[in-house]
Amino acid sequence: MLAVVLTFTRKARHFDWLNLTFVFVITLGIRLVIDGLPPNFHGIWLVLAASTTLYSASVLPLSRWSFFAAQIVTWLMLNPFMHTGVEFFELKGVMTICYSVFLCSLTIYTFLKLREAKLYNYIMSRLLLDQAYNDTLTEIPNRRSFMTRAEKCRQAVPREHDHYLAMIDIDNFKKVNDVYGHDIGDEVLKRIAADIKAVMARFEYARLGGEEFAIYLAGVRREDVETLAGELCRVVREQPSHHPVTISIGVARVEDGDSLNQALIKADEALYESKHTGKDRYTFYQRSSGV
Ligand code: GH3
Ligand code: MG
Ligand code: MG
Repeated sequence: MLAVVLTFTRKARHFDWLNLTFVFVITLGIRLVIDGLPPNFHGIWLVLAASTTLYSASVLPLSRWSFFAAQIVTWLMLNPFMHTGVEFFELKGVMTICYSVFLCSLTIYTFLKLREAKLYNYIMSRLLLDQAYNDTLTEIPNRRSFMTRAEKCRQAVPREHDHYLAMIDIDNFKKVNDVYGHDIGDEVLKRIAADIKAVMARFEYARLGGEEFAIYLAGVRREDVETLAGELCRVVREQPSHHPVTISIGVARVEDGDSLNQALIKADEALYESKHTGKDRYTFYQRSSGV
């Protein structure tokens, strides 16, 4: 029954309780079986049964309270001094105590060490995942993450709403690096990422690489995109800073048959238009502005 329940168990705290129930049931069963053996063997069999139960619990992914509760339940149910005739102060009793203390310490040590290793692995895998999908400098999603999320949006959001893809490039950014140094350049990148995050919070955005960013706007009207793109240019331009910069934006409407890469190419062409008509502006892709 427990094995069946286990297949439907998804939450760690449910597993903690399930394991405790299992420990209670199994130790009760063992106690009843051992009670049927010749009295001389009771003590030793109870300690052996406790060692099996506790060792199993020590390697399971339990929380601390659940493991220590399992220790208490095990020793209560399989107490080698209860109804066994073993006395504390005879040789057999002293040996039983010594072995029980050794067993407790060993299983607690195993449990805590394994738990530490598991937590370390968990934290490391979270960190690696985070680094794989987030840009470490600006702390916003990276290209890999953007391609996945934008593709999901492209397929999921109903088509009666328009989809737009915007590409952003910082104007004269090379000059910022040359004049103020790379560190200041990095600070500017972080600032622009923060501005994009603030203005485009509802949409999917990312740093594609270098000084280029992208935004996928799903379910919007053209007027909304114009307002948002204008707002973003204004926020970046008017940001009080010792190192003022501006950005250029290219926007493409994602047509029904367009793949994400096709839309990116169109947005890039529109961005090129923005650069060649004076920078610090947004331009919508038009077929004629293309090839
Ligand atoms: P335009 O207005 O035409 O876009 O000119 P630009 O100078 O911005 O364009 P260009 O492509 O010539 O320069 C991009 C610069 O971005 C070159 C490179 O040194 C800088 N860059 C790319 N990645 C980083 C980065 O992570 N940190 C810093 N500080 N600079 C970067
Ligand atoms: Mg560039
Ligand atoms: Mg640039």
